[in-house]
Amino acid sequence: MSNPCLFCRIINGEIPAKKLYEDDEVFAFWDISPQAPTHFLVIPKKHLSGPGEMSAEDEALIGKVVRIGAQLARKNGVEQCRLVMNNGADAGQTVFHLHLHVLGGRTLSWPPG
Ligand code: 5GP
Ligand code: ZN
Repeated sequence: MSNPCLFCRIINGEIPAKKLYEDDEVFAFWDISPQAPTHFLVIPKKHLSGPGEMSAEDEALIGKVVRIGAQLARKNGVEQCRLVMNNGADAGQTVFHLHLHVLGGRTLSWPPG
């Protein structure tokens, strides 16, 4: 039976995505519905539903997700960007596999809606 998690299925190639980066622990791909000129997602290959499911042993992995996100932004010509994780449906989370949004390429307003 296939994995029901959309992002796990993207990682294992069952669902196509425009990949930006991959190593043994981390995967990054362009968002299908970009909210800024540059908008991609960085995810751990380990399935965690969101930041709320993290344990202490995941700290280095999620730190790496953030580092890779900032590095990929710079590599794509974006020095200033927003790195954001939505944690729970009320915060806007729709896919329950932890992901870091990296948005840039325009002036971003604050606070978000
Ligand atoms: P969330 O709202 O959970 O923080 O963010 C989920 C993100 O995943 C959204 O920005 C949405 O556009 C993106 N997304 C949803 N389905 C797909 C998909 O099949 N492919 C890609 N590349 N992005 C997706
Ligand atoms: Zn998953």
